[in-house]
Amino acid sequence: MKEVLERIRKFNEDRDWDQFHTPENLAKSIAIESGELLECFQWNNDFNQKEVCEELADIMSYCIMLADRLHVDMETIIMDKFDQNEQKYPVSKAKGVSTKYDKL
Ligand SMILES: [Mg+2]
Repeated sequence: MKEVLERIRKFNEDRDWDQFHTPENLAKSIAIESGELLECFQWNNDFNQKEVCEELADIMSYCIMLADRLHVDMETIIMDKFDQNEQKYPVSKAKGVSTKYDKL
């Protein structure tokens, strides 16, 4: 993760693009790239793996940039969220079902 973060930081610093990367712009970019990911599956299930991976990389890059901009550690916030998810979805109640936590 550190190597990826360093590469993203250098890419943006070299181009002086950090000035455009407000939290709001990065959040919008995540949503926009998520739309592009959905477009890969529009109308059929015969998707192009390379295109899907490119959109996935775009989304993850913007997520990493937003976490960096907010001065939070990606691994920490993901682990914290899974701590919450494990509480909301105990295996004894959630295994094999897709029911939302408040209906379990
Ligand atoms: Mg894209």
